[in-house]
Amino acid sequence: MKAVETWRRLCRAARPEISPALYRACFAGTLGVELAGDVLVVVAPTRTARDQLRRRFAPLLERLAQQALRRPLTMRFIVSHEIVSGEARTVGAVSASYQVTPLTARPHVAPAAPATPLLHFASLHPRYRFEHFVAGDANRLAFAAASDVASSPGARYNPLFLYGGVGLGKTHLLMAIGHATEALGLRAGYCTAETFANDLVRAIQYHDQEAFRAAYRAIDVLLIDDIQFIGGRERTEEEFFHMFNDLHLAGKQIVLSSDRPPRAIPTLHDRLRSRFEWGLLADIAAPDFALRLAIVTARAGEMAVGFPPNVLEYIARPDATNVRALEGALNRIAAAARVAGERITLALAAATLREFMGDRYRAELTPGLVLELVAKHFRVTAADLLGKSRNRSFVWPRQVAMYVLREETTASLAQIGTELGGRDHTTIMHGCDQVTEALRFDERARHDIDAIRTALRAVS
Ligand code: ADP
Ligand code: MG
Repeated sequence: MKAVETWRRLCRAARPEISPALYRACFAGTLGVELAGDVLVVVAPTRTARDQLRRRFAPLLERLAQQALRRPLTMRFIVSHEIVSGEARTVGAVSASYQVTPLTARPHVAPAAPATPLLHFASLHPRYRFEHFVAGDANRLAFAAASDVASSPGARYNPLFLYGGVGLGKTHLLMAIGHATEALGLRAGYCTAETFANDLVRAIQYHDQEAFRAAYRAIDVLLIDDIQFIGGRERTEEEFFHMFNDLHLAGKQIVLSSDRPPRAIPTLHDRLRSRFEWGLLADIAAPDFALRLAIVTARAGEMAVGFPPNVLEYIARPDATNVRALEGALNRIAAAARVAGERITLALAAATLREFMGDRYRAELTPGLVLELVAKHFRVTAADLLGKSRNRSFVWPRQVAMYVLREETTASLAQIGTELGGRDHTTIMHGCDQVTEALRFDERARHDIDAIRTALRAVS
């Protein structure tokens, strides 16, 4: 936890030095994941945040480390998908996954140990279990096959080959099989094809292929992620072919994942391709709205942060080709609410996501959204707007709500009346007139309307 705590303290020191909006944009959702010597590795939720942190804040943070923590630190910022499983895993496991990062932004962390020429299995992400996986149309076959394999490994589909786009749950399912089979007392080994290849190269260098073989033969369930990276590497393919045959003959379960089906992996030898197709090929498609909503609902429940249903729907609404993006949206909104010290509302969610993700996240201009913004502007509650109190501090906000609904939405007077707690249309008309009248001479009224309109434009 040293990295987590160090980064947290550094953030605390940096916060007063940076404008709140910029702080939120760059620091929300970041996590210290590794402290190796003087190098602190921090994961940022987006590429933009990572770049900003690198470019604008690295010197400041390094200076603050000296001042506040009394130690020299070199900052390394990476984006979460540069870590293979997509999220910061247990701190120890992160360094293992660095080795397989195919991106240029590879952090310059000193290698953990002298290169022992064995196969490095990564530890399983604690959350990537079946009970945290939401099944739906897009992943039903993959989910069913994975559960089947997990309950009777080696028996039916061997290998199980899962394929689909980035962020659709392949690593999650592979690791879920790992957890479940370990619970059966079997030894599961998870690694990416990239790690496999690196370890093999090292084994060859150290003339220790026997130790390498011994390492994988000791495994009952072999889980290899992102197998597409194996194509075109003669030596690796060759060794993999032997490994596959060994394990398969011994009745061990093999599960592979790839971003595409075997026939679409270029330069893959036919004999390996046909091996991959021996068992079951199961694809995972992009989730439809129902599945997206089910996933964000489940995830919000796990996070134990109060997300109202309209916010969950808003997050799930745009087409997403990546479940990780949905999780990112939830995290960002939760962080924004925490920073602002506010409840999560549609207005807050829309402001946050539009800032980060652009027009895809334009909120629909609904009466509910208008009421939220009006209430926020006047620091009253939505219930105050709907209520019957004739208290002056509620009457004016209520009339403004009527006016803005009338001007900015397509709702009829009768509909506005319903939205505002069942008032009749003459009341609404009267409210609108009052505001129109006030706008002619009252500077404060103009200010109220302008501010609310600006807030509306910011989110919709
Ligand atoms: P892939 O390996 O296909 O790129 P991951 O398994 O890393 O994708 O999934 C990305 C993120 O989305 C993970 O946090 C994972 O838990 C989550 N996820 C993906 N699909 C689902 C699902 N059906 N239910 C719950 N979480 C999911
Ligand atoms: Mg993956």
